[in-house]
Amino acid sequence: MKKQLKNVLALTMAVSMVFAVVGCSSNTQQATSAEGEQTAQTEQTAAESSEDVLIMATNAEFPPYEYYQGQDIVGIDVEIARAVAESMGKELKVEDMAFDSIIPALLSGKADIGAAGMTITEERKESVDFTDTYVTASQAIIVKADNTDITSSADVEGKVIGVQLGTTGDLFASDVTETVERYNKGFEAVQALAQGKIDAVMIDDQVAKALAADNADVKVLDEPFTTEEYAIAVKKGNTELVDSINAALTELKQSGQLQEIVDKYITAE
Ligand code: GLN
Repeated sequence: MKKQLKNVLALTMAVSMVFAVVGCSSNTQQATSAEGEQTAQTEQTAAESSEDVLIMATNAEFPPYEYYQGQDIVGIDVEIARAVAESMGKELKVEDMAFDSIIPALLSGKADIGAAGMTITEERKESVDFTDTYVTASQAIIVKADNTDITSSADVEGKVIGVQLGTTGDLFASDVTETVERYNKGFEAVQALAQGKIDAVMIDDQVAKALAADNADVKVLDEPFTTEEYAIAVKKGNTELVDSINAALTELKQSGQLQEIVDKYITAE
């Protein structure tokens, strides 16, 4: 499993690098917020008129929750969302975008649901509604493998911390240091760490493990920095959709299918 994940990660990176080199114009790749808005407008009718399709906005740079396997976006969130869509009699369509474009995509109607290892926060609750939670996660700290200076979460205070832009890692790192380096992708932060450009990376625990598994120069500290809950986000006020998703999630939890999906991607230690 670990090896499989590693291969997938290598592939994800290779694909990302190719896109970086050729300069990508596809709207399924890392859109900036402005581009996200534009795409949102052109696809608005599609999202709102189609009754058979559930459009999921995500950022496919977040293994094991969402990442590229060849041309396909796979992962825990994708499988959960697909099961939810199926139980609603709909087909799931996945749209990849920058993490900070997901909420704007929901607000503009470009997407129906945001499933992206998204943590419930008070600030986000002001613009979107969240379903019941489906995963408990934490922020983890990654340091260089030979680092003896940062051994616990308290040691990151005042350090140069790399995060993924607009995430809870960004939020919490900003609380403990003035020097936060923001990247579009978690793996870019890990690369910068391996190159000695930053002192630590703060990112979600399972993602930290997946990224560190692929880079012998870094290690994940045992002690978590926060505890947080992932949920699916929808446009504010769409209680009907929240209720249908919650009903599907309850069913998936009770039948054990949700745990099966998680276990398929995360091996217990
Ligand atoms: N859980 C974090 C957040 O909600 C990171 C999510 C992500 O990068 N996909 O901010």
